[in-house]
Parts: sequence; structure tokens; C-alpha cells
Amino acid sequence: MSPATIDSRFTYRRARSLDEAIALLQEHEGARVIAGGQSLMPMVNMRLVSPSMLIDIGRIQELDYVRVSNNVLEIGALTRHHTLEQSPVVRQHCPMLSAAAGYIGHIHIRNRGTIGGSLSHADPAAELPLTALALNATIRTRGPKGVRDIPANAFFLGVFTTALQHGELVEQVRFPMQTPNHRWSLLEQVRRHGDFPLVAVATILEFNGAKIANAVIGLGGVAATAVRARHAEASLSGQAPTIDVFRSAAQLAAGEVEPSDIIHASAAYRRDMVEVYTGRALETAA
Ligand code: FAD
Repeated sequence: MSPATIDSRFTYRRARSLDEAIALLQEHEGARVIAGGQSLMPMVNMRLVSPSMLIDIGRIQELDYVRVSNNVLEIGALTRHHTLEQSPVVRQHCPMLSAAAGYIGHIHIRNRGTIGGSLSHADPAAELPLTALALNATIRTRGPKGVRDIPANAFFLGVFTTALQHGELVEQVRFPMQTPNHRWSLLEQVRRHGDFPLVAVATILEFNGAKIANAVIGLGGVAATAVRARHAEASLSGQAPTIDVFRSAAQLAAGEVEPSDIIHASAAYRRDMVEVYTGRALETAA
């Protein structure tokens, strides 16, 4: 069937609660939920997806919150990128998340786009999946079979592919709180302000006295999902934070990914940028 003949008609329902959205999803095969619509609507417009029904969850108040409970920052799936960026609670307890939201697109996109939508969409270059991975977040889902807590490293399975099962929705994202001992940075290379990054690097360094006790290096945009550079991380453990140590770790990180050629940059260039940006991100964090 040519794109011109695809039947792109869909019906529209607005869900008033999470339970109603789950029930509608079960009842209607081919239905998809829409939250902020900032990824789904472009895909519908380009006929990359043709849902038979759009279930609008965008006004379900119970999914829109930021709160702290038992040392966990709990964020409702409908929390907008703009709220993540501006919320004093997020800035205090999870500053990397706040910074990540500020990198997303432009203000109009951040006003509508949601954290649940970004994680479910699972764009490999998106900032929030990278941040969820780097910060060891847990994604709480709800579906016909109940609630599941899925660690970020098991949630993202591939390009636009997650561990969400049929009828399941993201309900909440749970971030361990950052402490002052977590020195961090999030840097990205973009062609123009607001673009998806060619390469994004999230680093966290935990210190024991003058030595690095634990390091996290998350890389976005250079694989099918955001990934951790585990060998580079391990190389930092027990080291003093010197430029040479960071350069070696950055070289290791570049060797751990296999970026592909994309329209804007070659694979070799993007690998070089992983090294450059990892080095800078580690220095900035320290
Ligand atoms: P929607 O578009 O409503 O939905 C996206 C997908 O998630 C759909 O498949 C939908 O069914 C599903 N979904 C939504 N909510 C849930 C849920 N709670 N549970 C299960 N499934 C759900 N993003 C970046 O990260 N970085 C950028 O630089 C960036 N730039 C952008 C530039 C432009 C011009 C545009 C239009 C978008 C850009 N985005 C960028 C995407 C933006 O962040 C989206 O807001 C985000 O990817 C999806 O969130 P949403 O709420 O809009 O989801």
C-alpha cells in the first residue's frame, strides 16, 4: 500500500483516570495513548504509525506531580519537561534531571512534552532516557496485570522499543536523590540549539576523600539505546581526578560504542566526539 492510500483515520477518547486509559487500551486493538503529543503526532502526520484510536491521557491530574518520599524523587508520568526544568524540588534533589529537561527542544515542546511520553517513546538520542539510565531510575508501570517496577537499564530495549507490554502505561518515574557527594555533568553536542544531540554524555563522580570511589558514564545518541561505558567507569575507580586519568577513561568510552553514520555526521566523527565530550564531562563533574 502506498503512503497515500494508508487509512489514517482514528477515533479520539479522553481518559479521565489511569484505570480508564488502561481499560480503553485493552478494549481497542490498535489504540495508542497520547500524552504531550510531541513525538506521537509527528509520527502520525508522517504516517509512520496509524493508530485506530488515540486515548488522550494529557489531563489525568493524578499523573502530574513531583514529590519526595523515602529518599526517592517520585515523578508522575504526565509531568511536563518544563516542570522538571523549573521545579525547585527537582533542582534540589535531582539537578541532572532538571538540566536534562532544559536541553529538550524548545519552550513550546517542553511545555507539552511529558517524562512518561519521552521514556515510552525511547528515542536513543533523547535526554530523559539517558538521565534515567545514568541516575539508576526505576520506571513504574501499570497495566491489566498490575504494577511493575522496571530499572532503567532493563526498560530500554532498542530504538523506539521498551519493556512496556500491551496495555501497560508508565505511571511514575522514581529517581534516587542525588547528594552533594555526587559531582555530575551533562554535556551534549548539537548542531543547533534545541536539536536532538549527535552525542550526549552524562557523568557522575562519587568521591572518597581525594579519590574517585564510583563513576557513572552514560552515553546517548550513539547506540540503539542510551548506554553505560562500563570499562571506562571501572577505570576511574580509586583514581585521583587528573586530566590524564579522565583522558584515558574517555578513550575507553569511545571504544565501547559503535556509532553509525547518520545524515549529519560520520560514525568516525561521532566516536571522536564521544571521546571529546566524555573527557570534558568528567572534568566538568570533578
Ligand atoms: P507523546 O508524543 O504523546 O507520546 C510518545 C509515545 O509515548 C507514544 O507512543 C505514546 O503512545 C507513548 N506514551 C505517552 N505517554 C505514555 C505513558 N504514560 N505510558 C506509556 N506510553 C506513553 N525530545 C528530546 O528528548 N530531545 C530533544 O531535543 C527533542 N526535540 C524535539 C524537537 C521537536 C521539534 C519536537 C516536536 C519534539 C522534540 N522532542 C525532543 C520530543 C519531546 O521530548 C517529546 O515531548 C517526547 O519525546 C514525548 O513526550 P510526549 O508527552 O509528547 O509523548
